[in-house]
Amino acid sequence: MSTLIGVLGAGQLGRMLALAGLPMGLGFRFFDSNPEATAGQLAPLVVGRFDDADALAGFARGVDVVTYDWENVPVTSVREVARHARALPSARALAAAQDRLTEKRLLARVGMRVAPHARVDSLDQLRAAAAEVGLPGLLKTRRLGYDGKGQVVIRREAELEPALASLGGRNLVYEGMIPFEREVSLVAVRSRRGETRFYPLTENRHREGILRESRAPWQAPGLQRAAERQVGQLLEHLRYVGVLCVEFFVHDGRLVANEFAPRVHNSGHWTIEGARTSQFENHLRAILGWPLGDTAAVGHALMVNCIGSMPRPDLTLTLPGVHHHDYHKAPREGRKVGHVNWVADSPVRREAIARKLADYVAS
Ligand code: AMP
Repeated sequence: MSTLIGVLGAGQLGRMLALAGLPMGLGFRFFDSNPEATAGQLAPLVVGRFDDADALAGFARGVDVVTYDWENVPVTSVREVARHARALPSARALAAAQDRLTEKRLLARVGMRVAPHARVDSLDQLRAAAAEVGLPGLLKTRRLGYDGKGQVVIRREAELEPALASLGGRNLVYEGMIPFEREVSLVAVRSRRGETRFYPLTENRHREGILRESRAPWQAPGLQRAAERQVGQLLEHLRYVGVLCVEFFVHDGRLVANEFAPRVHNSGHWTIEGARTSQFENHLRAILGWPLGDTAAVGHALMVNCIGSMPRPDLTLTLPGVHHHDYHKAPREGRKVGHVNWVADSPVRREAIARKLADYVAS
């Protein structure tokens, strides 16, 4: 019998985990509330609500290891599943990442610099936070924010009250706007046996809070060492198992941690063709206690997200070496429906392709 991996959430990350694991002989079973979830095209999908203990137990029974493709899987669902099967990464790591305030405190505790911030549950607190931290800043919901949703930029005092009202008035965090030079991320992996590896830093370009393009390796040896040291401390502190990604701002040449994701990450999608071992394969190796694969880059990778709709493969594939990744999701404005990867032999060649791809890809 092949080893069976259970995945809570059946979106594109689960789909790509299956695409990495099926050739290694692994079996998959997914759980999602949406019967149309895309990973269900590749392996059996159990459809149920995340608060349905019976459905979760049925899903978890007979599974060797459960993992997630969604960081907002309720921690109670993970605990339920963990009664029947080993669940990795741990509920503790997931819980820390689900609340922006506890997340920032944790990042600071393991030695990372974070943006000045304050908890906000009322207009008085928001006024005090803006006075202390300064304007401009961002007001963010503590929970369930993603792709720029659940956050508002505040530039003037007059915007405080409407911003607060638009985000529900409480359970918020106000943080100072960092005038960063660039955004980078570090994808790391730690196995059940405690083996740890880091991918090269990735440079990320966002628009409207959504990741549009990643380039790797972003070569900055000093920052690579600093990021590896800091993220290594986070992994050890959590006794983390699996792939984890920390997103940083680079400000005045130094790293400021923004957030971490306890899962495979969009800024690591370039590793599918751009690294010796992809983040998806390494996540599976880590949670199974297998030896980890080499994280070295094989060239100069570009990843372009396809937002809203996919480009025509008969156009993108005219560019030699382009890899088309279609998540088989219905086109919808603002939705990540796929990505395109390309690995160049030099950063200059990579920029030439980036310009050509821009003609085809809605990013
Ligand atoms: P987040 O949801 O925290 O990942 O934010 C999405 C994007 O908004 C980030 O990748 C940044 O481009 C921008 N952003 C978030 N927080 C800050 C901040 N404190 N200073 C400057 N830009 C930010």
